[in-house]
Amino acid sequence: MKLICISDTHGKHKDLILPKGDMIIHAGDVSSRGSEFEIKTFLNWFSSLDFKYKIFIAGNHDFYFENKTKRSIKEIIPENVIYLNDSSINIEGLNIWGSPIQPEFFNWAFNRQRGEEILLHWNLIPNNIDILITHGPPLGILDRTIRDGISVGCEDLLNIIKAKKPKYHIFGHIHEAYGIVVKPETTFINASVLNERYLLVNKPITINL
Ligand code: 5GP
Ligand code: MN
Ligand code: MN
Repeated sequence: MKLICISDTHGKHKDLILPKGDMIIHAGDVSSRGSEFEIKTFLNWFSSLDFKYKIFIAGNHDFYFENKTKRSIKEIIPENVIYLNDSSINIEGLNIWGSPIQPEFFNWAFNRQRGEEILLHWNLIPNNIDILITHGPPLGILDRTIRDGISVGCEDLLNIIKAKKPKYHIFGHIHEAYGIVVKPETTFINASVLNERYLLVNKPITINL
């Protein structure tokens, strides 16, 4: 199975050149302000893509998914698109978990305080996960900001990953930290396609599962 990973398109999805594949995963920040119009525009495009499986989570810009009811969200998600929100899907034997939650940063969507509050979400992640999708990175891995050169990833998430050992962790959020890090238990992918100035500079990342 060929998986294409993208993240942080912020409304620029139409400019992407996508390789062929069986599955596409978008790790959040599909919009710039999360309005209904922006979200629908993204979903129309995502739904039209030529992949058998199309999966996404929301990011801290995608307010629609935080502000609207479950019912309104369900209504706008096309039938051939899978939306994960602290939830899982099994695809051809692969267990995939997705969560939009990230450590507090200004007043954005899906913010949680580090520690107890964010752990309420990370503790929901099951043991036998093949692919973990979160919007933000774990601490110390593809999480360094260019402006102040500090690691802003989530330590609580890192600890959970060490315990649950997903085969892949796909995220974005820290645009300038795009790339792949292969560790013995888990391969980490920061799939941000835009840079910190929101310019489309990075390629989608392909994984052969
Ligand atoms: P976004 O607004 O798209 O979520 O993130 C865009 C950029 O804001 C990132 O590429 C990064 O430079 C910066 N940023 C996002 N979250 C944090 C954070 O928690 N701390 C710091 N210092 N910068 C962040
Ligand atoms: Mn972003
Ligand atoms: Mn973000």
